[in-house]
Amino acid sequence: MKYYSLNRKALEVSFKEAVIKGLAEDKGLYFPENITPLPTSFFENIDALSDVEIAFEAIKQFVTPEIPEPILKKILEETLCFDFPIVDIHKNISTLELFHGPTMAFKDVGARFMARCLGYFNQDNTNEVTVLVATSGDTGAAVANGFLGVKDVKVVILYPSNKVSDIQEKQITSLGQNISALEVLGTFDDCQAMVKNAFLDKDIIQKIQLTSANSINVARWLPQMFYFFIAYKKLYKTHKDIVFSVPSGNFGNVCAGMMAQQLGLPVRHFIAANNDNNVVTKYLKTQLYTPVKSVQTISNAMDVGDPSNFIRIQEIYKNKFDNLQNNLSSFSFNNTQTRAAMLEIYTNNGYVADPHGAVGYLGCKAYLEKNPKAHCVFLETAHPTKFLEVVEDVINTKQTLPEQIQAVIDNKKVATTISNYSELKTFLLLHKGTQV
Ligand SMILES: *Cc1c(COP(=O)(O)O)cnc(C)c1O
Repeated sequence: MKYYSLNRKALEVSFKEAVIKGLAEDKGLYFPENITPLPTSFFENIDALSDVEIAFEAIKQFVTPEIPEPILKKILEETLCFDFPIVDIHKNISTLELFHGPTMAFKDVGARFMARCLGYFNQDNTNEVTVLVATSGDTGAAVANGFLGVKDVKVVILYPSNKVSDIQEKQITSLGQNISALEVLGTFDDCQAMVKNAFLDKDIIQKIQLTSANSINVARWLPQMFYFFIAYKKLYKTHKDIVFSVPSGNFGNVCAGMMAQQLGLPVRHFIAANNDNNVVTKYLKTQLYTPVKSVQTISNAMDVGDPSNFIRIQEIYKNKFDNLQNNLSSFSFNNTQTRAAMLEIYTNNGYVADPHGAVGYLGCKAYLEKNPKAHCVFLETAHPTKFLEVVEDVINTKQTLPEQIQAVIDNKKVATTISNYSELKTFLLLHKGTQV
């Protein structure tokens, strides 16, 4: 498959090049040249297929022939080695739990898939690749875990100081080997801006092969389609009018759902559930897209003021506002509403939601008010104990830590503090070619 840049000033590239480059030379995000829908029969008989078989059919056209089919099967088996259960919350609301992977957030799937693609592309390559990634918490954790020990791949993670949870910080800073953590005195947007700068800095890119593992990277973004297929497989025999409410930050996940819909998945509608960082909610009301500085909330993985994947969503709907509005609604909820939702889900349904999932739940409720016949699935994007302090405070109940979290909690934090771009540049150039 060929990919073009959404800024349309760079050459088309193969899947391999798109993965290795991350972002096109003209700063544009890559987008697949064609999207060929799967046959209707695939969806009619989807319950006969395993998750790996479904994922294979969904992603095949986007990654072959650069990843040969037998290798793709193996990568998918290693990527999807945990469950994605659906839990009914009440009559027309269910949740899809995406937190059963090694770092207990949905980003594990994208990170594991991308790490294995890069590992495959790098197998005969003697050049080292550096994965440079900005994180609001979960990306860093998933990328550190997914890439740990991958040959000839070095990972540098930038995270905003004091703005990720203690557990997330441990997941990012304590693995060692080929993973380095940079603690940035600033916000997530500052981290993201520094990463973007590095990609455009000739001094760096002449010496270091950089790639990104944010959802701007097609190998991180596209595998997120699998969730929507897997949920559909579990629900379609018993439910009609399935809609998804996706707690959204950089909008990679909801955009992947829309790609699944382009492949023919019968999804009636998407809901982008936002916290106070709500540029898209406002855009859908006013048609004015006004990026702002992010504000800090209790659902910190969604504290994004200028969501990078929104441009892909615009592309999917051919930049036609009406098309977009027919397929996407967006609502935003503040911390007080989010806390109240966590308590409500716990009290009424005995379910412990994390703050991100709770925002998704509120998105479902808002949509169902006007569309009572739909069945709304909100994505539970992280395990509640990743946000232990707020969860225990709101529902006033002690939580037991799952083994994945227990395993890192007592590890030692190792991070380098930086406060501006020139310090990042110095770090990258200094550590070039060495194991850090
Ligand atoms: C990353 C993340 C999100 C936001 O996902 P996007 O694809 O950036 O919109 C939501 N919830 C959690 C827990 C996350 O880690």
